[in-house]
Amino acid sequence: MDDKTLVCDVFIVGGGPAGLSVAATLPDDVSCVIVHQDREIGLPVRTSGASWLQDAERLGIPEHLFKRIGTSEVFSDKEQAVIAMGDEVPVILDTPRLYQWLARQSDHKDRRLLLATKFMSITQRADGRYESIIRGRNTHWERVIATHVVDASGWHFAVLEALGLAAKPERLAVGTEYEYPIGDNDTDRVIAFFGTRAPAGYGWAFPTAQDTLRIGVGIIQPDTDKSPRDLLDAVVGDARFLKRLGLTLAGAPIVHSGILPSVAYDDRLVFGNV
Ligand SMILES: Cc1cc2nc3c(=O)[nH]c(=O)nc-3n(C[C@H](O)[C@H](O)[C@H](O)COP(=O)(O)OP(=O)(O)OC[C@H]3O[C@@H](n4cnc5c(N)ncnc54)[C@H](O)[C@@H]3O)c2cc1C
Repeated sequence: MDDKTLVCDVFIVGGGPAGLSVAATLPDDVSCVIVHQDREIGLPVRTSGASWLQDAERLGIPEHLFKRIGTSEVFSDKEQAVIAMGDEVPVILDTPRLYQWLARQSDHKDRRLLLATKFMSITQRADGRYESIIRGRNTHWERVIATHVVDASGWHFAVLEALGLAAKPERLAVGTEYEYPIGDNDTDRVIAFFGTRAPAGYGWAFPTAQDTLRIGVGIIQPDTDKSPRDLLDAVVGDARFLKRLGLTLAGAPIVHSGILPSVAYDDRLVFGNV
């Protein structure tokens, strides 16, 4: 092989939670290459980080990487309810650190992680293996030949689309979030709001482990043509609505995430996927 071609058992496209989890669970003697188009693992942030304690514990995620939440409340345009969660304890993940922790779970394996490197195209060779073209700012590698390829590119469907196996989804969940200093807000409460404030989706607010209040809106496009940023700006600018939600926004907002797409489910509104 030339010095521009990597050969491995498993080629993973995308260093988000899916790709990193695959790498972490491969047997130690299986060689793997991950390409991740972002410069860092975990940044930019692509998720709010709401999850469940049972899942965090089942996956062995250390306690310092999430915050437990005690109270859950839901608001519609006219009604509101406190949801009794029973044994289901919501948690807010510290996503950048969690993903970095996830990446470390395969550090000891025969794994090469190429950051700022993009999967471009793929063909199947006569010997059955897959040959992919990659491009990176800081790497001289140009090709990866692998027996198995994992498309962990999220909503991009990068490999599946390149192989003609699936098209990019037409419906995407799109959201955005701001963060404020926690101030007087409850440090133990998560809220979700539905209705005209977040058509074809929902909004949320919760405290984070970093002493901030994170508030966001996510919608499904093209089910609505509204922009999540406009909807969120309307919410944070509406003092009456914020009072009804029991929120105080103190200080200047920090944009926690840009406009973030995610795969939308066809027939369900799923928490976490807008
Ligand atoms: C606003 C918003 C809020 C959300 N909140 C929650 C939540 O609270 N809880 C929850 O459980 N889920 C939440 N989600 C959903 C969650 O973000 C996704 O389910 C999750 O990120 C999917 O993980 P993934 O690894 O499959 O894809 P991604 O996280 O999208 O990771 C894929 C990675 O692949 C990289 N990539 C893509 N194409 C290429 C390429 N050609 N070459 C190299 N790299 C490539 C991308 O840069 C990306 O980093 C939210 C989504 C949005 C949009």
